[in-house]
Amino acid sequence: MSAEPGVNPADEMVVGRESAWHEGAAGAASPVKSLPLVSIPTSAAPSTGSGVPTKPSWLGMSAVEQERWVTEVAGQAKFRRKQIEKWIFQQRATSFNDMTDLPLAFRERLAAEFTIFTGQVVRHQVSKDGTEKLLIEFPPMGRHGAGRIECVLIREKQRRTICVSSQVGCGMGCVFCASGLDGVDRSLQVNEILEQMLRITGVLPVDERLSHIVMMGMGEPLANLPNVLPALEVASSDFGLGISPRRITISTVGLTKSIDRLLEVGKRYQLAISLHAPTNSLRNQIVPTNEKIGVEGIMEAAARFKRETGRRLTFEYVLLGGINDTLEAAEDLADLLAGQDALVNLIPYNPVAGLPYATPSNQAIARFRKVLEDRGVVVKCRQRKGDDIDAACGQLRRLVDKSSVGLADGN
Ligand code: SAH
Repeated sequence: MSAEPGVNPADEMVVGRESAWHEGAAGAASPVKSLPLVSIPTSAAPSTGSGVPTKPSWLGMSAVEQERWVTEVAGQAKFRRKQIEKWIFQQRATSFNDMTDLPLAFRERLAAEFTIFTGQVVRHQVSKDGTEKLLIEFPPMGRHGAGRIECVLIREKQRRTICVSSQVGCGMGCVFCASGLDGVDRSLQVNEILEQMLRITGVLPVDERLSHIVMMGMGEPLANLPNVLPALEVASSDFGLGISPRRITISTVGLTKSIDRLLEVGKRYQLAISLHAPTNSLRNQIVPTNEKIGVEGIMEAAARFKRETGRRLTFEYVLLGGINDTLEAAEDLADLLAGQDALVNLIPYNPVAGLPYATPSNQAIARFRKVLEDRGVVVKCRQRKGDDIDAACGQLRRLVDKSSVGLADGN
């Protein structure tokens, strides 16, 4: 499905964040008690090390490394690599044994030396609106313990969008975000990013495919470009998931050096910048990394990206009641974006248990939006999705970690 002309796919969604226009969000009750969700039991492995795969993932090697292994180590023809890729990405094989057109001895060799998935799905939630969320635990790595991340499938008409995590936790510290509450533990590896896409693909009926990718899950993708870009390369290749780069959006808090790096190596992808405030005084309060970069620095990097790609700029703006949803903030934002050909995605704050922020009323959201529109700024307001499979990305991980009851299955 192609994006509408001139519309950045980034405006379409983000899961688990765009939902929940709950009033009185502060200290919202834990979804553990109240959500009418369907939670599918999975065979969760303990995070204490048992069952930790010792074999590396096949997906962790580049195409060149895979080909070298196939030809030089296993003594097979080059085309075998493409066969394997087809099995994994198109036929949804999760084990080498399934790859029936490979010679048996070769399959056995592959299975002896590699695994495809290294993670375990420890929770699978299904929303009544069709949104699905997986909590995946990856094994310990180096000095890091097991790491849990979330990925989400959003169904919207013909679209099947995955919201992908790039890190375990997040180091950016945006004050309203659940993912960063405990800081960043580590960046995800290429295979761990691809595993999210494959596992979500596995949730779809066989005649459906992922159509869009948004790097809007846990973590800061621009702080992990060495893993994010190779994974997106595979996702967008014909032998991988075949998703057009125009349907792949990288969302960033605004790391300007990395935006420039993206211009060198990843400008095929859509970029969305999480602005959240039009002035430094306000943005410093909400997005701590702003102190180093500044709104001007971000706007300059965004302008460079626009100049080079010719695409409309997309800014995300999470509305926090009484903080950045005032008329003054709206006017300042309109001043900042005047004449910029920018799209603003307004995202009503999705309550995070324990955080003192509130979702603005619908009236306040409409008022903010009108100020922008009257000044000629194009505005979209995120749709509600996945309300009932709990709030913002990063929350499920915390709930499952903290609660001995967890999200009770079938409650
Ligand atoms: N670090 C990147 C990508 C991950 S966050 C970034 O900052 O863009 C993806 C989007 O979700 C960001 O715009 C972020 O501000 C938003 N978000 C995080 N927590 C949220 C919450 N509780 N409610 C609404 N949006 C949230």
